[in-house]
Amino acid sequence: MLFPINSFQALQEQLQKEGGVVYGPEDLKNEEELVVRNTAFRRIVISVYEHRCAFCGLQIIDSFGQGVVDGAHIMPFSKFRNDRISNGLSLCKNHHWAFDRGWFSIDDGYKVLVSKNLREKSPNAKPTSRFHSERILLPVKEMYAPSPESPRWHRENVFDSSS
Ligand SMILES: [Zn+2]
Repeated sequence: MLFPINSFQALQEQLQKEGGVVYGPEDLKNEEELVVRNTAFRRIVISVYEHRCAFCGLQIIDSFGQGVVDGAHIMPFSKFRNDRISNGLSLCKNHHWAFDRGWFSIDDGYKVLVSKNLREKSPNAKPTSRFHSERILLPVKEMYAPSPESPRWHRENVFDSSS
């Protein structure tokens, strides 16, 4: 990437200080800037959750600093262009997939809601259904925790609440 490292660092620090940003339709017309901004968002989300999955707590980091979690958008970026950290969640690959599929969501008190329509065998890890009504892990700084509108949108539009 041609974007200089120093300005990337500065961008990341600025976004972290401001809590992120919601882009207007005129912003980010340039593909490269979009990629850079997206990378910054994902890295900040992962760092405020200390590289842990907010759902299951899993944290694995290799010697290159590469971890097992993604900095995920709660309301999809393609639709809302909301790169506020409070629209982010750090999730391991399994739980990122499960969240995007609507297999679980979060209530206003940050408690996990698990879909009743899952058939699951999990001989070596705690089954997804057993996380129901447990509180997700949150960032230390309150300003980075999911703002109510994001999980609400996810519950209403993505979560499979049928039974
Ligand atoms: Zn997880």
